[in-house]
Amino acid sequence: MTTTIPNPQVSTAPVELSRHATSEGTVMWFRCGCGRLRMVSTPDSPTARPMAAGGRTPGCPECG
Ligand SMILES: [Zn+2]
Repeated sequence: MTTTIPNPQVSTAPVELSRHATSEGTVMWFRCGCGRLRMVSTPDSPTARPMAAGGRTPGCPECG
């Protein structure tokens, strides 16, 4: 038996999964439209650059 989950709205926009405050800033996890997990660390310091971790999916408009 196959279960099909209806997905009428196909979006490639990343979905925020969780958000954690750390001593250095905010760490957020996203699930990309392609299904890949991405981590973005946003420092509290305005002079520090946000860091993103995670691979890239070729052809994905968000992470490819
Ligand atoms: Zn992607």
